[in-house]
Amino acid sequence: MDLRNFRETAHHFVDWMADYMEHIEQRPVKPKTRPGEILAQLPEKAPEKPEAMDHIFQDFQDIIMPGMTHWQHPNFMAYFPANASPPSILAEMLTSTVAAQCMSWQTSPAATELEERVMDWLRDMIGLPQNFHGVIQDTASTSMFVAFLTARERVNNFRTNHTGLADAGRHCCYASAEVHSSTDKGIRMAGLGSDNLRKIPVDENFALIPAELEKAILADLEAGHTPTCVVATLGSTSLSSIDPLAEIGKICKKYNVWLHVDAAWAGSALVLPEFRWMITGIENADSFVFNPHKWLLAQFDCSAFFVRDKGALIRTFEILPEYLKTREGDQVNNYRDWGPQLGRRFRALKLWFVIRSYGIEGLQDHIRRHIAMTQALAAQVAAEPDFELLAPNPLALFCFRYHPEGYPEQQLDALNETLFEAINDTGKLYLTQTRIMDAYAIRLVSGAEATQPRHLEQAWVLIKQIARQLPLD
Ligand SMILES: *Cc1c(COP(=O)(O)O)cnc(C)c1O
Repeated sequence: MDLRNFRETAHHFVDWMADYMEHIEQRPVKPKTRPGEILAQLPEKAPEKPEAMDHIFQDFQDIIMPGMTHWQHPNFMAYFPANASPPSILAEMLTSTVAAQCMSWQTSPAATELEERVMDWLRDMIGLPQNFHGVIQDTASTSMFVAFLTARERVNNFRTNHTGLADAGRHCCYASAEVHSSTDKGIRMAGLGSDNLRKIPVDENFALIPAELEKAILADLEAGHTPTCVVATLGSTSLSSIDPLAEIGKICKKYNVWLHVDAAWAGSALVLPEFRWMITGIENADSFVFNPHKWLLAQFDCSAFFVRDKGALIRTFEILPEYLKTREGDQVNNYRDWGPQLGRRFRALKLWFVIRSYGIEGLQDHIRRHIAMTQALAAQVAAEPDFELLAPNPLALFCFRYHPEGYPEQQLDALNETLFEAINDTGKLYLTQTRIMDAYAIRLVSGAEATQPRHLEQAWVLIKQIARQLPLD
């Protein structure tokens, strides 16, 4: 592709991008694609000859777009949001053009130093202590894995990196029953074994019970095992429960267990001073993660991982063969030593663009707006006689079910599953489901930048309308 053609096409694409954002609401939020439908439209063999960009782009519009789920759609209220704001998109365009590989300071000094600066900004914006150091990982799952490995090494005096785990005994980890599946995965990846993950009971607010945590740690010590890491969750994925960090932190300190705080989604709410109560006791945490790529307008991937003892982190990951040595030594950060990846994308640029173009106040407005809209809708759901909320809803997420008067309890799951499928089948609204104390629940999260109060109001009208047309036999 010559540069003249590139320039022309790129201008054309930018127009398409702006049109996409402007008219996204006219698309169904979730496609009706059947499994294999897209695959069947794609040639089995790669083309031998070059194809024109016009032709490729036409196929993108005809084949790919109809099979896309639109995460930036105002009616996307499933999972968690994955915001892509215009400034973030612009930064990603520049990142992909310069296409630097940012594994070490020398391979891109500005990328490294910008990452250091924006992670300090973020740390201060969410109220973490000054002695936390930040690095951008791809996802919260990777951040969790990094925390487990560092915890494992610290508790073994950095021996197991060399000797392996064969003679190291059992390493036990602890998390609430509501913890995200990335905990289970991280424990497997770190070689600790999922049998050694203790799921600690939760209270009536679905928050980890500290006394139960201490009991579990004591039992493992008694048995000669090694308590290694506790994961506290702020904003659980299923229902946004918040573990009591202060009490958990004291226990971790007492038994010298690594404390990782998983605030993947809810951490963005810490830009609001009124939500800082969630991190009371953070000084006893060893690591903390939240994903600006969920709710803070920097698009995927961008997971902000903070660690108190960066020396322990680097000692866990640093390997320095001759071909990676550079003469700057300790004066600079080499982020390849802060996690599993060697090669790294330039992800700090989009954070810089987003933070500067919204300002802290703009980001606060965005988060505050979603919390207020969701709270208002949750209150309406709670007030409706034939609907009920199934868990506390401190942030911008709530779980509910349809419960017509006198309807047999044991059939409510099936009724709500039918309702849930019918809602999503409209293509007008996209929700996800979960289970709360074994009951089937419909889960709604607001977070897309395009979502306005009217979208939540329309969602509620649609939900009620579909529910009340269901046959109640
Ligand atoms: C979304 C989420 C994760 C996983 O996030 P990824 O960045 O996709 O790995 C982990 N923990 C919690 C609480 C989450 O909400």
